[in-house]
Amino acid sequence: MSLTKTSTEIDALRRGGLLLSQALQAAVDAVKPGVTIRSLDAIATEVIEKGGGKPSFRGYKAGGSIPFPSTVCISVNDEIVHGLGNRNLVLKEGDIVGLDIGLWLENLATDMAVTVPVGNVSQERLALIRLTRDAMYAGIDAVKLGGNIADIGDAVEDAVDGRYGIVTALVGHGVGHKVHEPPHIPNYRAGKAFPTVKIVSGMVLAIEPMLTTGDSDVTTGDDGWTIKTLDGSDAAHFEVTIAVTEAGVEILTPQPKVRI
Ligand code: MG
Repeated sequence: MSLTKTSTEIDALRRGGLLLSQALQAAVDAVKPGVTIRSLDAIATEVIEKGGGKPSFRGYKAGGSIPFPSTVCISVNDEIVHGLGNRNLVLKEGDIVGLDIGLWLENLATDMAVTVPVGNVSQERLALIRLTRDAMYAGIDAVKLGGNIADIGDAVEDAVDGRYGIVTALVGHGVGHKVHEPPHIPNYRAGKAFPTVKIVSGMVLAIEPMLTTGDSDVTTGDDGWTIKTLDGSDAAHFEVTIAVTEAGVEILTPQPKVRI
């Protein structure tokens, strides 16, 4: 499989990324104490389907045998990623909630995520969210033509500067022709354990740091999907799909507007 996309494909990915961002924005705008996560999933699904897209996570198996049941992965507090979005779980004041969403449009996949506060949250939780967001932008800034994919994880780790745990059990990825495709993109300093992958024009990459207020160890919930911190500490996750071309780095999935 090609690691790169044509300019025609990148044009389509830009349209897909915009629709995905609009779906995520609609869900984010509905986040408040008392809402079920299932209702957020329904809002995002409607925007994607009205825009002619198809949710890419619903039915996805990711190597396991259980198809993912919802459009959005919705992960609350100590849940890091892959929380089931079809739950009747009610968000409470002070929670933090990660919304991770992907779609197909014109046969191309995009992927993005944001973590947002529910009502008033503690300064500690806000700080975790902000630094995870900043770490994602540091990763984006590290992407240079001719550079190495590992530069992204190095930049994330430098931005975190030891203040939080960085999840290493999951990585970012190429995206576009598939929901997940090569190359793997570590969100941490991988060193020599990671093969050198040169960054070339036409790459479309999903960068997605996951930080915790505790250790980086994870465990999988009984549902077979939800990845949580092993020590019960809080977690935050941000994700963006970018395209690398001769013109530079372009964000294909504009970050939703969130007050954090
Ligand atoms: Mg992803």
